[in-house]
Amino acid sequence: MTEHVKVVIIGSGPAGLTAAIYAARADFSPVVLEGEPSSTSDQPGGQLMLTTEIENFPGFVDGILGPELMGNFRSQAERFGARMHGAKASRVDLSGGRAAIWASDATSDEPTYTADAVIVATGARSLMLGLDNELRLVGHGVSTCATCDGFFFRGHRIAVVGGGDSALEEALFLTKFAESVTIIHRRDALRASKIMQDRAFANPKISFLWNRQVTALHEEGGSLAGVTVQDPAGGAEERHDFTGLFVAIGHAPNTDVFKGQLEMDDLGYLATQPGSTATSVRGVFAAGDVQDHIYRQAITAAGSGCQAALDVEHYLAGQEA
Ligand SMILES: Cc1cc2nc3c(=O)[nH]c(=O)nc-3n(C[C@H](O)[C@H](O)[C@H](O)COP(=O)(O)OP(=O)(O)OC[C@H]3O[C@@H](n4cnc5c(N)ncnc54)[C@H](O)[C@@H]3O)c2cc1C
Repeated sequence: MTEHVKVVIIGSGPAGLTAAIYAARADFSPVVLEGEPSSTSDQPGGQLMLTTEIENFPGFVDGILGPELMGNFRSQAERFGARMHGAKASRVDLSGGRAAIWASDATSDEPTYTADAVIVATGARSLMLGLDNELRLVGHGVSTCATCDGFFFRGHRIAVVGGGDSALEEALFLTKFAESVTIIHRRDALRASKIMQDRAFANPKISFLWNRQVTALHEEGGSLAGVTVQDPAGGAEERHDFTGLFVAIGHAPNTDVFKGQLEMDDLGYLATQPGSTATSVRGVFAAGDVQDHIYRQAITAAGSGCQAALDVEHYLAGQEA
């Protein structure tokens, strides 16, 4: 049977759970569709569930483990009356004024929830290489975020995989900490802008492995100890003893379920109105990495979750007036 609620929040990373804290304290008893267990970042708690120490989230002088931080967010939201539902939004209908959301079973005739307002906080995922032990090594030598993890790699020999602007930006940032940074690219030319290429070529700490793709990750004592690379066209494998590997081959927002219903940019990120978290549909708001491909930090996601809940509060007050 369909349950009507004031606010449904889809996603339980820093954006969704911060929105839940604010919406619960505003007395909306929000339901949070938390997502479903998985070994990727698309799981209850979001991307920080994959990492170890978080040192840049304000308020934790000695840092805090990612899963512990997300456990705290969740408990804080529950303390004020947010209801957690461990399921994914498998189908939505945002066309009829009152949003309809199906949890888990998309084939059911009736939606699980209808809601006066919805906050979409389904986040994004880093594209990965697809190697067996890759996800297990995230936080143990493998990373997808130089801003987040660069500090842990002081004095390391690091490799960055990718050939676009973000790969070069990560590489240049990492030269502050690393002994050396090697860019591994599967082609013989970069996709990055000329200015970024010039900066990378001029940096004495940066070198390149052209026409190479990573085919294996080697570990010692649970941490990355080296990588094997090979020409995508075939040929001999080579081992390199990198102790840090930053995968910078792109990100993808988790927006499939909203296709055709919410406006998105070319990459699939949700479009929000300037100075607001409002999407192209009235009563539907978006927060966190699902609408931000620039900053992509826990604190910015949490900040926009707060904004979305405040926008919902104003929107619902306007509906009642
Ligand atoms: C390995 C790693 C380390 C990082 N380290 C740091 C760091 O040190 N400091 C920092 O500030 N940032 C760090 N980041 C970045 C940070 O994790 C993200 O910016 C932040 O998590 C984004 O929050 P979010 O709430 O927007 O989305 P996410 O954290 O991506 O959460 C999205 C949530 O939505 C859920 N979801 C997706 N689809 C559906 C659906 N259809 N229905 C219901 N739920 C759904 C997912 O299961 C998940 O719970 C790191 C990221 C990674 C991957």
